[in-house]
Amino acid sequence: MSDGTHVAEQVTLARLPSGVELTTTVHTYRGEGSGPTLYVQAAQHGREINGTAVLRRFHDRLPLESLSGTVVAVPVANPLTFDRVSYTAPHSIDSVNDNMNRVWPGDESGSLHQRMAARLWEYIENADAVVDLHTGSPDMLPHVVYLEADEPSAALARAFGTDLLLAEEAAEDAPEEWHRRGFAGKLRVAATQEGIPSITPELAHSRQIIEDVVEYGVEGLLSVLSHLEMLPQEYARERGPDRDDAPVIARNHLGQVTADESGLFRPNPDLELGQSVSKGISLGTIYQPTTYDVLERPVTDREGILYTLTREATVTAGSKLASVAIRDEELGLE
Ligand SMILES: [Zn+2]
Repeated sequence: MSDGTHVAEQVTLARLPSGVELTTTVHTYRGEGSGPTLYVQAAQHGREINGTAVLRRFHDRLPLESLSGTVVAVPVANPLTFDRVSYTAPHSIDSVNDNMNRVWPGDESGSLHQRMAARLWEYIENADAVVDLHTGSPDMLPHVVYLEADEPSAALARAFGTDLLLAEEAAEDAPEEWHRRGFAGKLRVAATQEGIPSITPELAHSRQIIEDVVEYGVEGLLSVLSHLEMLPQEYARERGPDRDDAPVIARNHLGQVTADESGLFRPNPDLELGQSVSKGISLGTIYQPTTYDVLERPVTDREGILYTLTREATVTAGSKLASVAIRDEELGLE
């Protein structure tokens, strides 16, 4: 009896101006039994390396002998930004859109990012579910984002199992900012709109591998496979029947608290990620570093769940200090 197969193939995503081919590795795991196809990728934003670390560990942990169906995994979706440890690619490489996650489903005769996306879309369009692994910065509570009102995507998010789930409004329901920032071109949005349930786990910080978050991400992927009936039930993430153990569902409202002044930011030491806050709570203090003068005392812009907070840092006017998601009771689980 065969135990399933793993194949790693080198795929050319695009050609650079010099003629050098930009390649990445696509891993395909085929189970012995038939079943759906899950597509999972990491590091569209190259500094977001926790997802890449998740896929390496997932490779070691996936019980191929128990797999039904196919998993396609791309640990580095964007080698350009990976090498630069950056979020975006330089203008000289892509003058149309420096952010790969705004161009999906791509265009095989378009700009560099559009071509890269179009090449990977060939795998995605045949998938039954998509997990696009990201991380946030500078300090972020792990959470999963999905398109509000898309129940199969919401079920995938619950299966991944973070304590916080963020439902994002889309298309005609979305605020103007959603359109202005080109969110329709996110992989998760493009795939969901093609009828492929999709989620974006945001696994804590950028630029550093966070051990327990990586482990949490691997367990989340195995739990998603169990939800899709590609792995046995024992791989589902355990959540107790207790209401307190249910995930908090909130709305990804896009807005965030930004600094009005440049200086050194000291966050309010009493705040913890994941806590409920009301509007007008102190987020900390921005000081003038040479005179010690207080320049600004930023506060929360709304009531909800605090899910990102900048740690002690040099900030410039306009930098993000914190994000608060609006708890959405209407979307709450039974
Ligand atoms: Zn990202």
